[in-house]
Amino acid sequence: MDSPIAALLERKGSAVHAVASTITIAEAVAEMNKNRIGCVVVLEGGRIAGIFTERDVLRRVVGEGIEPKSARVADVMTRNVHTIHSSATIEETMTIFAEKRCRHLPVIDEGRVKGLISIGDISRWVADSSRAEADHLKNYIAGGLHA
Ligand code: AMP
Repeated sequence: MDSPIAALLERKGSAVHAVASTITIAEAVAEMNKNRIGCVVVLEGGRIAGIFTERDVLRRVVGEGIEPKSARVADVMTRNVHTIHSSATIEETMTIFAEKRCRHLPVIDEGRVKGLISIGDISRWVADSSRAEADHLKNYIAGGLHA
């Protein structure tokens, strides 16, 4: 839990799926489906201008009756994007997910995009770490019994 996000990114990779804010919602959704991801980062002039997630499709598009083939992703994205530094710990990141009520966080170090962490990535990391720790303890105990 006190491992840095950088360690998770080393395992996961640094790919961040980004789209231009001028594309339609339908095009953004196609991009998400093609890559089997739950969000895209939205760029304006090469900079992060927003984030668009499957929750937005549900609430702001379907829920509001917006036409995805004509409306632009810029019209429904969230503009105030929360980000984390790669030195943030797994535990700190979990707290941000809970406090900000979101499931995706771009990782930015000194203005550079280093990756994107989802709440699913954190769950997998925690599950893997618990399993590794349990295996380690089992081996330790078994070793002690055989000594
Ligand atoms: P999510 O739970 O990540 O699907 O997103 C829930 C809501 O929070 C949606 O309106 C997203 O646009 C927004 N959201 C998701 N991630 C972020 C983020 N890193 N910063 C700001 N808003 C976000």
